[in-house]
Amino acid sequence: MNLLFDVKIIIRTTLPEVLYMTPRVDETRCIGCGLCVQLCPDQFMVDPRQIAIVTGMADSIEAIERLEAAVDYCPVQAISL
Ligand code: SF4
Repeated sequence: MNLLFDVKIIIRTTLPEVLYMTPRVDETRCIGCGLCVQLCPDQFMVDPRQIAIVTGMADSIEAIERLEAAVDYCPVQAISL
């Protein structure tokens, strides 16, 4: 009798998911265009000085993806994670 064993070893190599992320704004670069507020209204607002300030953290994968878009699309590269 010939037995074939198909042994599959699954090793979980992914790191634990990032559960939250808080952005930072370089106030010396920000020009107050408001794009980050449009993309992430729960994380940014433009203050009376016309400078974006951080109002909250991203606590879901979707919110983190929007934060990453804000980093990419900020016209003066003022946002970092
Ligand atoms: S997208 Fe950039 S320049 Fe525009 S308000 Fe936000 S931080 Fe400031």
